[in-house]
Amino acid sequence: MNKFELLGLEPPIIQAINDLGFTEPSEVQEKSIPLLLQDETDMVALAQTGTGKTAAFGFPLIQKIMPESRTTQAIILSPTRELCLQITKEMQAYSKYVKGLSTVAVYGGASITEQARQLKKGAQIVVATPGRMKDMIGRRLVDISRIDYCILDEADEMLNMGFYEDIRDILSNTPEEKSTWLFSATMPREVAQIAKKFMHKPIEITVGERNVGATTVMHEYYTVTGRDRYPALKRLADANPDIFSVVFCRTKRDTQRVAEKLIEDGYNAGALHGDLSQNQRDLVMGSFRKKQIQMLVATDVAARGIDVEDITHVINYQLPDEIETYTHRSGRTGRAGKSGVSMVILTRSELRRIHAIEKKIKQQFLAKKIPTGMEICEIQLYHLASKIKNTEINEAISPYLPAIHDVLQELDRETLIKKMVAVEFSRFHAYYSKAKDLNTSADSRATSSMEGGKGTTRFFINIGERDGFDWKSLKDFLKSTLDLDRDDIFRVDVKDSFSFFNTNEGVADHVLNVLRDFKHDGRLINVEPSKPESSGRRKKRNKGGKDFPNKKKRNGASTRSKKGKGHRGKRRSGYF
Ligand code: AMP
Repeated sequence: MNKFELLGLEPPIIQAINDLGFTEPSEVQEKSIPLLLQDETDMVALAQTGTGKTAAFGFPLIQKIMPESRTTQAIILSPTRELCLQITKEMQAYSKYVKGLSTVAVYGGASITEQARQLKKGAQIVVATPGRMKDMIGRRLVDISRIDYCILDEADEMLNMGFYEDIRDILSNTPEEKSTWLFSATMPREVAQIAKKFMHKPIEITVGERNVGATTVMHEYYTVTGRDRYPALKRLADANPDIFSVVFCRTKRDTQRVAEKLIEDGYNAGALHGDLSQNQRDLVMGSFRKKQIQMLVATDVAARGIDVEDITHVINYQLPDEIETYTHRSGRTGRAGKSGVSMVILTRSELRRIHAIEKKIKQQFLAKKIPTGMEICEIQLYHLASKIKNTEINEAISPYLPAIHDVLQELDRETLIKKMVAVEFSRFHAYYSKAKDLNTSADSRATSSMEGGKGTTRFFINIGERDGFDWKSLKDFLKSTLDLDRDDIFRVDVKDSFSFFNTNEGVADHVLNVLRDFKHDGRLINVEPSKPESSGRRKKRNKGGKDFPNKKKRNGASTRSKKGKGHRGKRRSGYF
């Protein structure tokens, strides 16, 4: 018997589950589905996004709805348009074998008449953002006076966004004897109050630990002066060539400004904030989903409900005012079982706030140093070499090759390789060789992302994300292959097709011995001690160096600069 059948789900839903390829119920599904199917009850479920909670309420809801009646029987309130559309899509997929069942999405920024027309045809389930739902109730375009089920999804985010009054007004238009299911990642006082006020003896289920951020996320902070925030951001991006990130700023103005600067400097960046039209926001989100944008600079409100998987880094360009908001930000990465990194760029005076966050998320931050220019050059060099190696050859190049051979024929293999990587490397080297150290000396805990400090060895290894590793799984792999303890391997930095890690000097020979001629999945592993320039020499040379040789004063910034500046060369795209 299918595991979902054991939870009490019936054939039309099981058939849809099979189509979707779900084989195992997730924890929240296992806990909530039998309870919701069995009784008419109120429920509070503490579960993060990405845990499968849409199906946790969606499956039982679909089974309980009467498709033969066209009356609206359930509303699902969610904080953002993106989430609203996503839930609707999921509900439609889950109910595709339930004849006559219709789910309609109702959200701001789109034609209200068109949405009203769809509702008029009869929708048993309405998924809505609170503002638009209230608007439609006011105009009598929707009738929720006979619903049996009300689901509040991401309740904490809805309240954070200031929807309390809208929710209260919406609920006052619903019958007393309905069932309310509330889903929330965290349980701040406001959510507890909603549960107390609008729900009747709710059963409570918790997935993972209460109020705790996802453990697949590594938290890091970097201490710089306020002036160096932006150069620090650039270095973090350059030290992670395959970054796919959300950069959080506190205000719309900063968001726009940082995105514009990044675009000018040649990064694939875009801005997302409330001053953009819905159309502009859709465009940015579309490009981000397609990974044409690598760095999405966003305000907290605009980024709510973003459900894009594979985000590798969340960067807190500035810390948020509320600790809760930090949890939401960092929750954008490390989803669907993957690992992620949440980075905070801060000034010395903000350091104490890190301790408050650590307490809240029950996880320690790693104090890290902004990589030096030469460390970035090293990463970029390896990245380039592996990019060349992994490039698929387009056969359309063939007719040109004889002429290319003629041009390059005098060069031996060594020279050819040197020249090839120099083309790209020189740009970074010219830019970074005189770059200053951006770290403030405030935190003695801080360690460079490349160097391990005294008595440690930094290794390069030729496996990375392409081989299915993230920092966590690579650490586990090294730990078991080398028969070392967890603490013996640290500062694991995984890039696309290579990685770095540190060990204590004492085990360096052991690492080289074990991994020499070692094969992983049939591939020969190459491990070498990484050799960044000594920091002493670097400091001396960098005296008086500037981080922004090309920086020029800008006024009335245009979002569409023709050419990227500095080491990143031409801007490949800009999305506003
Ligand atoms: P959610 O937490 O509802 O946003 O779900 C996150 C993702 O997990 C969605 O893309 C779902 O389609 C998917 N999902 C939900 N339940 C399961 C399951 N039991 N097995 C595999 N994937 C699932």
